[in-house]
Parts: sequence; structure tokens; C-alpha cells
Amino acid sequence: MKAFNFHEVKSVKEATKLASNKSTFLAGGMTLIPSMKMRLSSFSDVIDIKEIKELYGIKVKGKSVIIGANTKHADVAASKEVRKAVHSLAGLAEGIGDPQVRNCGTLGGSISNNDPTACYPSACIALDATIHTSSRKVDAENFFTGMFETSLKKGELVTAVEFQIPEKSCYIKFPNPASRYAMVGVYIAKFKKEVRCAVTGAQSVVYRCKEIEKALNNNFSESALDSVSLKSSNLNSDIHASAEYRASLIVSCAQKAVAGSK
Ligand SMILES: Cc1cc2nc3c(=O)[nH]c(=O)nc-3n(C[C@H](O)[C@H](O)[C@H](O)COP(=O)(O)OP(=O)(O)OC[C@H]3O[C@@H](n4cnc5c(N)ncnc54)[C@H](O)[C@@H]3O)c2cc1C
Repeated sequence: MKAFNFHEVKSVKEATKLASNKSTFLAGGMTLIPSMKMRLSSFSDVIDIKEIKELYGIKVKGKSVIIGANTKHADVAASKEVRKAVHSLAGLAEGIGDPQVRNCGTLGGSISNNDPTACYPSACIALDATIHTSSRKVDAENFFTGMFETSLKKGELVTAVEFQIPEKSCYIKFPNPASRYAMVGVYIAKFKKEVRCAVTGAQSVVYRCKEIEKALNNNFSESALDSVSLKSSNLNSDIHASAEYRASLIVSCAQKAVAGSK
């Protein structure tokens, strides 16, 4: 690990004031620390945001659930409010990694890192989320821009994520047996006006699967997906799964998600 200056801050204002082109924010450190240790990344300044109290907490307000950026996966999984409002969101958090990762990893860290196989980006897209940052509010669909890339500007801090509460929803992941990251993860959310289907793990960035949405908007049932066949030419192929296998996994995960929606 290369040498850096370490700052512990207590407010969003203090964090953004210290930020520069060569700095980074430290949340749970689940991704940042290993990548710095392996010298995949290095920074002049590391700004520890763990002590910023305003970045924690869960609120259900009207038709939305607002979760602070520093909220840990274990806290989302254990939250009765989240489970009651959006059962699938608590379930998603419960299925991330292992207990150590869930007790250190944060919502803000997960979406800012935007790993193409991470679970939370699919929740943001399916639940039509708005990302609150230190300077603006961004629709989730304009936030995740590419592999490990977001529309965050240098020094911009995610402060919270506002998820819309659907009528029914479910997240089904086919996990990598070692890391528990998604080889494919499908999040289905049924709203009064539309069904949204977000897929993670299958392309370089999370995306909405229009073929599945179209079928489910006509008929919200497992059998509506029997005739859906996805092309594999635009899907990831690696040692874990071929593109063809992923295409078939997306449909079967979507069918399980429809069956499990509540
Ligand atoms: C073994 C293992 C298994 C995992 N399995 C899964 C899984 O199954 N599913 C899944 O979805 N994820 C999984 N993860 C990812 C994990 O859930 C963490 O969310 C992720 O690693 C980010 O870690 P962190 O929250 O500690 O953020 P950090 O590592 O501290 O930060 C990550 C990046 O985000 C930036 N950042 C952090 N917070 C903010 C903020 N508020 N605003 C702006 N930028 C910010 C940092 O500067 C850094 O660039 C796994 C991780 C590990 C190590």
C-alpha cells in the first residue's frame, strides 16, 4: 500500500471540502482497502466518512424508503421497516457476501463502486431509486454509467438512496459460490403503472431487461416468461458461465422472482 494522508471527518461539508482529484472516501473499506493494498489504486488522501452521523439511518416516508449511505447491509437486512415496506430489499441485503462483509459494507460504498456483479445497483434500478448526493439528486438510471463507473463527480458524496415502494417485488440471485456476488441477479418490481426488471452480473453494468418487462406488463405470471428467449451476444462470458448460460439464467431467475414476489 502506498503512503497517504488519513482524515477522519464528522460532516458532509468537511468531507467534500477536503476532497480533491487525488483523494478518496473510505466507508466500510470492503473494496477500497484490498484495492489499495494490491496497489490497484492509490490516493494522496483517504477521507474516512464512518463518523458522519447524518449518513446513517432508515426512514419510511410516504411511498419511499430512504436509506443513509453509510447504512450497513446487516442493518438493512435486520430492519423491520425495510422488510415491511420492501421485503425484497431486506432480502437482497441479507444475501450479500458473508457476515463480515454485511457488517462492514455499506449501501453508499456498494453503489459508488458499481461492481458489475453487485446486488444493490439492481435494486436502485428496479425500485426507481433517486440517489441523493452532497450536491444533487440523480435518477438511478442516470447514475450507473459503466463498469465500476458512475455519474459521481470527483469529491461528490452519496448521502442517501430513496427507493420507491412497489406493490410487489423480489430479487433472485444466482450467486458465485466463492464470493456470493451475482453471476446473474434479477430484481423484479411491480408498480401500479409498470413492471420493472433490472439485471446485474450479466453485462458490464446493470440494465433493464425490456423483453422481460414487456412480457410481465402484459401478464404478471411465471408462464408469461416461458416464451421469452434472450439473445446472448451482448452478455458476459467468463470461467463461471457462458453468455448462453447467463441468458437462460436471467429468464429462470426472473420466473423465480415473479413466483416469489410479495
Ligand atoms: C468477499 C466479498 C463478498 C462480497 N459479496 C457481495 C455480494 O454478494 N453482493 C454485493 O452486492 N456486494 C458484495 N460485496 C461488496 C460489498 O457489499 C461492499 O458494499 C463493497 O465492497 C463496497 O464496500 P464498502 O461499502 O465498504 O465501501 P468502500 O470499500 O469503503 O468504498 C468503495 C468505493 O466507494 C467509494 N465510496 C464509499 N462510500 C461513498 C459515498 N458515500 N459516496 C461516494 N463514494 C463512496 C469509496 O471512495 C470507494 O471508491 C462483497 C465484498 C467482498 C469483499
